[in-house]
Amino acid sequence: MANNGEEQQTQAGRHQEVGHKSLLQSDALYQYILETSVYPREPEPMKELRELTAKHPWNIMTTSADEGQFLNMLLKLINAKNTMEIGVYTGYSLLATALALPEDGKILAMDINRENYELGLPVIEKAGVAHKIDFREGPALPVLDQMIEDGKYHGTFDFIFVDADKDNYINYHKRLIDLVKVGGVIGYDNTLWNGSVVAPPDAPMRKYVRYYRDFVLELNKALAADPRIEICMLPVGDGITICRRIQ
Ligand code: SAM
Ligand code: CA
Repeated sequence: MANNGEEQQTQAGRHQEVGHKSLLQSDALYQYILETSVYPREPEPMKELRELTAKHPWNIMTTSADEGQFLNMLLKLINAKNTMEIGVYTGYSLLATALALPEDGKILAMDINRENYELGLPVIEKAGVAHKIDFREGPALPVLDQMIEDGKYHGTFDFIFVDADKDNYINYHKRLIDLVKVGGVIGYDNTLWNGSVVAPPDAPMRKYVRYYRDFVLELNKALAADPRIEICMLPVGDGITICRRIQ
């Protein structure tokens, strides 16, 4: 039988295999959070979308239920109205956002894949929040460049959630810092990158984890050194760095 330390190690290892859902030290602790505070309060449409997404082959990409609850709370706390999301997939974080916004709230939502967005769309429509969403199919960067060029979008967003191609996060940040309002918030997701940010370079890692790791490390350094924002890195989901623009 494994001693306590080994047992904890095994638990942590197994837990990480669950895949990007939590960096907590044990499955039991994470389940406790889900069962005690998240699932009992999860809005019905979010539950439906979560269950639908669980059947999809790329379900590892979805935002976890606890992170969805966190985003929903954060948006309400900051009274967000005009928001943006980069990386939609089937729309779990999008729905968490849409449900938090007032009736006239807006989400500019971008993803290169419309098909996955359309999987979740009927649930979003049934929830009565689809009118808040302006979905754009395609890479996000050119849309941001267009908005910067237009001039009229500078400092207009209350909240921006970035959850797409990690190798572009720095490029997104260069643009988003102009588009978010002073006092507004940008959330960069997966900033603990499956715990790999502290793994030794020769540690075994899935190929995609290894590929994006250096980009995440670079982003984390850049955010910590950026005087235009205040930051807070939270171990929710796969790590989310909350940035509040201050200048
Ligand atoms: N926020 C989503 C959720 O709650 O389920 C998860 C997003 S998933 C981790 C990342 C998404 O980013 C994928 O759906 C992918 O198609 C999209 N993506 C990848 N590269 C992109 C790009 N250059 N511009 C916009 N979206 C992109
Ligand atoms: Ca994510």
